[in-house]
Amino acid sequence: MQRLRELSRRVEAVYGEIATTFSVYQQQRGLSCRTGCGECCLQPTIEATVLEMLPLALYLFDQGKAEQTLTQLETLTGPQGCFFYQKLSFDGKQGQCSVYQQRPSICRLFGAAGYRDKNGKTALSTCKIIKLDQAHAYQESLIALESDPPPLMIMAKEQVNELDYELGKQHLPINQALQQAIEKVLFKAWFSGGSDEQQSA
Ligand code: SF4
Repeated sequence: MQRLRELSRRVEAVYGEIATTFSVYQQQRGLSCRTGCGECCLQPTIEATVLEMLPLALYLFDQGKAEQTLTQLETLTGPQGCFFYQKLSFDGKQGQCSVYQQRPSICRLFGAAGYRDKNGKTALSTCKIIKLDQAHAYQESLIALESDPPPLMIMAKEQVNELDYELGKQHLPINQALQQAIEKVLFKAWFSGGSDEQQSA
């Protein structure tokens, strides 16, 4: 269990770096998310690795909510948006993250990030809402791609996942990745004395 906690601390340290790198780029280029927008969290295509969900799984364990959350996750049927997204509008497009501090890497890249296109060149990925809301900033960012390239999504993800090959090798739907992370934490806790571990972080 101590190994998982140490690993989680290292993941969180990298999360701090990622958050800074991406938010600085997004703020400087005027490409931040619309306030209260939750369109990304609604998408069933969001993926994470078990490793990326480890800080959240340990947080739930320490809060005494791991078993309850696992039971709820097991009742989910079919692909759907993130379990931790709280809808605040009828259509669900407005909402908030209920585990913001523990959210995985992918959520720290929402807004604007770079990727390599099929020719190996850096390209800019943003959602259609940002392209519409901040059309001018988006165009200027495209023009400045070479002089001011966006930080790459793949680099951020690899920075985290290289911390543990086994837990970081497979990308799963976000709810499934969390389920497996909680199972891992509960399994380790069971072997190492259970509730005593909750306060030992
Ligand atoms: S963890 Fe939070 S930010 Fe990430 S998809 Fe879920 S609700 Fe959205």
